[in-house]
Amino acid sequence: MKQFVFATNNKHKLDEVRKIIGERIELLSLKDIHCNEEIPETADTLEGNALMKARYVFEHYHTNCFADDTGLEVEALGGAPGVYSARYAEGAGHDSEANMRKLLKEMEGIANRKAQFRTVFAVIIDGKEHLFEGIVRGEIITTRRGTSGFGYDPLFKPEGYTKTFAEMGDELKNKISHRAIASQKLCKYITN
Ligand code: IMP
Repeated sequence: MKQFVFATNNKHKLDEVRKIIGERIELLSLKDIHCNEEIPETADTLEGNALMKARYVFEHYHTNCFADDTGLEVEALGGAPGVYSARYAEGAGHDSEANMRKLLKEMEGIANRKAQFRTVFAVIIDGKEHLFEGIVRGEIITTRRGTSGFGYDPLFKPEGYTKTFAEMGDELKNKISHRAIASQKLCKYITN
């Protein structure tokens, strides 16, 4: 059976991709290959970060692999927070409350609320690189709604839905999300 390393230890992401790939490919995490070091993610684009992580694994572990990076891109903010979504609020890494507070503050008085979540997967097979993208368009609402999901979910209402990502629950979100769209493209490619 073909094997791929997914350059993550995030169980939620592993499960999500495993569900889409099914039994056809064995998916290993960083822990499974005993990669315990912090992989650098210092590029200034989602593509750059995804490639940086995948190249790190390929160069150090000589195995077919893929990596992802995701950002929330707000039109009126010129695409911010984008690649800096996890640490948008100064000094706070992965503090969703602080990030949402900053986003609402930056958007005060702005009528154009259009935004999108974008996920990029970088895949390396036998040294050849490919990129896949998944986008969900929507808008940033003015007050948090819902408690499921993570990150900016309480503030993001996808186009065509009345509920935010945090109100719709994981099952529906994981079917329509940016990550799901990108994962499906990736899985189609690596299972062929
Ligand atoms: P990562 O690349 O998946 O680690 O995502 C980077 C950051 O983007 C996260 O820390 C979150 O702040 C935000 N983010 C990514 N995916 C989602 C999502 O599905 N909902 C809400 N926020 C997200």
